[in-house]
Amino acid sequence: MNSKLTITILIFIRFLHVEAFVSAQKSGDNKREAYSKSWDFSRQRIVVLNAYHQKYHWADQLMDGVFSELGDKDKYELYIEYMDTKRCSDSIYYQQLKEIYLHKYRGVKVDGVLACDENALNFMLQNGDDVFPEVPVSFCGIVGFDTLLLKGHDLYAGVYEGFDVADNLEFIKRVHPQVNHIVFISDSTSSGKALIAKAENIEPQFKDKLTFEYLIHQHPDSLKKRLSALSETTAVMWCMYVRMPDGSFISTEQSIDFVTSCTHLPVYCLWDVVGQGVVGGNITPPFFQGAGSAKILKRILKGEDPSDIEITKSLLYFKFDYNQLEKYEIDLADLPNGSIVINRPTSFWQKYSNEIVWILFVLVVLLISVFTLIFLYRKSRRAEGEVKRKNTELEDLSSNLKLVNQELKISKSRAEESDKLKTAFLANLSHEIRTPMNGIMGFADLLRGEDVTKQEKLDYLGLIESSGQRMLVLIDDLVNVSKIESGTLELVESKFELNNLLKTIFLFFEKEVKAKGLKLKLKNDPDIIIVRMDRTKLEQILYNLLRNALKFTHQGSIEFGYLNNHGNMGFYVKDSGIGIPKEKQNVIFERFVQVNDNRESPKQGVGLGLAIVKEFVDLMGGKIQLDSEKDKGSLFVFTIPCEKIVVENVAVNIGSEAIADFK
Ligand code: ADP
Repeated sequence: MNSKLTITILIFIRFLHVEAFVSAQKSGDNKREAYSKSWDFSRQRIVVLNAYHQKYHWADQLMDGVFSELGDKDKYELYIEYMDTKRCSDSIYYQQLKEIYLHKYRGVKVDGVLACDENALNFMLQNGDDVFPEVPVSFCGIVGFDTLLLKGHDLYAGVYEGFDVADNLEFIKRVHPQVNHIVFISDSTSSGKALIAKAENIEPQFKDKLTFEYLIHQHPDSLKKRLSALSETTAVMWCMYVRMPDGSFISTEQSIDFVTSCTHLPVYCLWDVVGQGVVGGNITPPFFQGAGSAKILKRILKGEDPSDIEITKSLLYFKFDYNQLEKYEIDLADLPNGSIVINRPTSFWQKYSNEIVWILFVLVVLLISVFTLIFLYRKSRRAEGEVKRKNTELEDLSSNLKLVNQELKISKSRAEESDKLKTAFLANLSHEIRTPMNGIMGFADLLRGEDVTKQEKLDYLGLIESSGQRMLVLIDDLVNVSKIESGTLELVESKFELNNLLKTIFLFFEKEVKAKGLKLKLKNDPDIIIVRMDRTKLEQILYNLLRNALKFTHQGSIEFGYLNNHGNMGFYVKDSGIGIPKEKQNVIFERFVQVNDNRESPKQGVGLGLAIVKEFVDLMGGKIQLDSEKDKGSLFVFTIPCEKIVVENVAVNIGSEAIADFK
């Protein structure tokens, strides 16, 4: 009783679960509908029914083709079903698959079905109306396709698997001319059987060229036995050998490995198992089949009528394994046009092209950088050199400017000095004119007096005369300077007796020297010396020098004379006066320059005497020198080149006192 109750309760709970599940499913569907209407979240639901299993290389490549077309997750919701019929394909299994799909898809609105490979298409043809009613179907991977298959199935379209066994045999015959026997290996799968049927169909075509042998559904041992016994004139065609007679399944890799280990003969294929040990063949690539059927399904989903779509053969191409071509010495040139060759050894360039391109790029960048750096370095060196050159130029310019500045300073100070000298000269000139003029005017006025004695008159007249003389000297100096300035000074040479001239000069100064309490000495020879030179200028030179000596000597003596040297006449004027400081001696011969600061003598003269002396000596081709010491006296020596005639030992009377002093 209790157990009955428990079962009833459990059934009730189960019922509640199922109801809840169904209502949840319905509400989910309703919600999905609502979303798809308002937000357009809807995706087209596609069931991909693959006859085989994952990691079966054919199925995987085919699915890659499908995904290449239906991979957009925003557009398509894929329900992928691997039927695994290579490993299990009895009727009970198919029936159970049907029930599963019925259950699984009962509430799902499926928009389309992709039936990949024969077992999937056959399943759909038989059960599609129940499991996916009114759903369009696109198929691929069908070996033995017949349009009759689709009779009464208007929603079906797709691509079928193209095989060209004859093309393969023609190729084998061409590259292996010795081959006259072909062995076809197949299992009991529908694909294998379909291929064998195709081979049988073309057998008459090769009647005179090849004999056909079919090794179908063989146990590996017997297959091995037969394969190892084949003659050298045989080639092997691997059609399909994955299901063993005991119903077990092996992979294509295992199968080909086994077959190629049983024989050293070339093994060809009709499926894309190239790369697993076969030479190659005219094959149909599963990728294109998957992609082709997916494309057709997309067209149907967009509204195209499946019955309007032509059912075409899938693409075929020759594909070879380079290693096997090498092994059987098949020349690449013998391959059909457009053949694909895998495992081809890559050249160094193919292998490392990316790296090489990058290295080249980096090298180019480095080279550009290096050249840019060299360019910039050179430019900077040039700029440095330019800067150095400019610096040197600037330094030169600066030192030149300094020199110019110094010269300007010197010129300025000279100009100032000259200005001062000219001012002093004008003052002196005025003084030099006024003093004698005042003397003349004053004494002339005194002469008019009635009570002036005779002696006084004579004294006044003497003073007027000396004042006039002083003015004459000034006028002479000015005239000479103006002649020097205008360049009109000329030498007027004549022959004269030198001692007479000196005597005259001596007499001229004697009285004045004495009056000042000084001694005047003339040093000369007793001979008669006749010279040829400009007498007036010599006279003027000696007058100027002696006048200065008289002016600046306040005690002692004044001496003048000559030294009768060979060729030149050397004259001198020597005094024991105030002397000329060393620092002034180099400027003393310039115009207007005066040294004495009226310490010991009132100012006289205008600073032209020595300038005239120097000009005259220079004009006469001579030289003048000064040796002087402050407070000790001065010695002026000058030479004049001249012709001279000496008449020896003739006594000359040049004044008693002077001669006495001279001796
Ligand atoms: P000044 O008319 O002033 O004498 P000078 O050219 O003859 O012009 O002389 C220039 C200056 O040289 C004089 O002012 C004086 O200072 C100095 N001088 C010339 N001769 C002598 C000398 N014998 N003794 C001292 N100073 C002299």
